[in-house]
Amino acid sequence: MKVYNFNAGPAMLPAAVMERAQKEFCNYADSGCGIMEHSHRHKIFEAVLNRANENIREIMNVPENYDIVYIQGGASMQFAMVPMNLALPGKPMEFADTGTWSSKAIKEAKLFGEVKVIASSKEDKYTYIPDPASMHPSDDASFFHITSNNTIFGTQYQSFPECKCPMVADMSSDIMSRPVDVSKFGLIYAGAQKNLGPAGLAVVIIRKDLAERNPANVPTILRYSTYTQNNSLYNTPPTFGIYMVSLVTDWVKDQGGLTVIEANNSKKAEMLYAAIDASEGFYRNPVKADSRSKMNVIWRLPTEELEAEFVKESVAAGMLGLKGHRSVGGIRASIYNAVTLEGVEKLVDFMEKFRKNH
Ligand SMILES: *Cc1c(COP(=O)(O)O)cnc(C)c1O
Repeated sequence: MKVYNFNAGPAMLPAAVMERAQKEFCNYADSGCGIMEHSHRHKIFEAVLNRANENIREIMNVPENYDIVYIQGGASMQFAMVPMNLALPGKPMEFADTGTWSSKAIKEAKLFGEVKVIASSKEDKYTYIPDPASMHPSDDASFFHITSNNTIFGTQYQSFPECKCPMVADMSSDIMSRPVDVSKFGLIYAGAQKNLGPAGLAVVIIRKDLAERNPANVPTILRYSTYTQNNSLYNTPPTFGIYMVSLVTDWVKDQGGLTVIEANNSKKAEMLYAAIDASEGFYRNPVKADSRSKMNVIWRLPTEELEAEFVKESVAAGMLGLKGHRSVGGIRASIYNAVTLEGVEKLVDFMEKFRKNH
């Protein structure tokens, strides 16, 4: 049976990418062995790394004064590395708290200095993104941190705040899903396992001057400058993960880049929200209309029993990963770049049938 994958992360990768990786698995570029078995210092791997870099730079239109680096430890490690490197003495670190991942980033920052939460939707169970135009980070803050898409609560920034201090964004669950003006940010980071490749790896796009902010007590391996100055090759990087990022970014380019990707994502999300809104209250999305995520669509059913039944029947119908995050319950469909329109049509169809039957 064909399976449709709506996992939140690790998540579906494009079928073409998985097939290409399989084809090249044991014999990469006629070298007689797999890319996983090559030295990270060999020109064969260096070419892979450089291709991933060039692809990301081209796709996201990353300006010259930014570096792109690969750091193990996923997004959670960035929760610690950002404040460890970027906190300036006497200057607060400011945050918008829009969900679980923001809260985790805040918790780590508190270990390194004063933290101010300048916008939050916590009181309303994170059902919206506070108006970005009303977020006013201080000009002299160490940095201002946002989470562009809230994977668990199904909310997403539709526009970004104005910010004079460096703006830092956790884009783990919506990087490369739409065009973004990178020059508005000081640092962008993303765990790879939603839109870019396998878990365990973070892609970090950092303005060169910020990479040089190095308090003396930061260990070498945790300094951004160690990665920018060595093209991510100070230590042995997660080579297979970087290789997968090079394939996924090749694929994004093949699709026609972020304008096309965004149009596809909008179409998928609209279909799903339309199905929820047309269900006469059977399916209920708790998110404020102007904050709805195009990556993670969440909804409730009339009872938790029905939700459990929905998940059970969806699995039997070949759909994976629709159970909501364990902390909030309900249903969640993650529809990242790799999820096809066909997959969403299948899901919408299933939702209709389920509603009629129950
Ligand atoms: C998944 C996710 C994380 C955590 O990523 P790890 O790689 O597990 O550390 C952090 N932030 C956001 C927005 C996420 O979606």
